[in-house]
Amino acid sequence: MAIQQTFAIIKPDAVASGHTGQILGIIEKAGFRVRGMKMARLSRQQAEAFYEIHRERPFFTGLVAFMTEGPVVVLVLEREDAIKHWREVMGATNPAQAADGTIRKKFAKNIERNAVHGSDAPETAAVEIPFFFNMAELL
Ligand code: UDP
Ligand code: MG
Repeated sequence: MAIQQTFAIIKPDAVASGHTGQILGIIEKAGFRVRGMKMARLSRQQAEAFYEIHRERPFFTGLVAFMTEGPVVVLVLEREDAIKHWREVMGATNPAQAADGTIRKKFAKNIERNAVHGSDAPETAAVEIPFFFNMAELL
């Protein structure tokens, strides 16, 4: 597997609880290089567009409310096999099912308020990275 980039979000629950620094530490210890990083406050329109694929799901309205309730940190992370590796470091969507040592096991409150986002495939990362970052912001 070659060097790859993935897109990550430290979600409003984790930022509000003061877990940003610990999560960034885990990211660095896991061998990722941070290529882009900034705080953002998502508008409803942005959150709806970002999660468009989930629009018909019963959790969509709650998810958009959650993702817009406070600031997030958006990140572009790079390493070998970044997409799969970041999903492993995050842990399962539902923290009740997340493996020990994963970010979601440590910091997520429930299946909605689950601390972090990660792209699920190269095609997803290719859409999610330019959703938040322009070329000059990726270092
Ligand atoms: N989500 C939720 N309820 C569910 C499933 C998902 O509130 O039953 C939220 C949760 O915040 C999750 C996001 O919707 O991270 C996107 O869901 P997805 O299935 O893509 O999970 P992920 O890729 O984030 O693990
Ligand atoms: Mg997903």
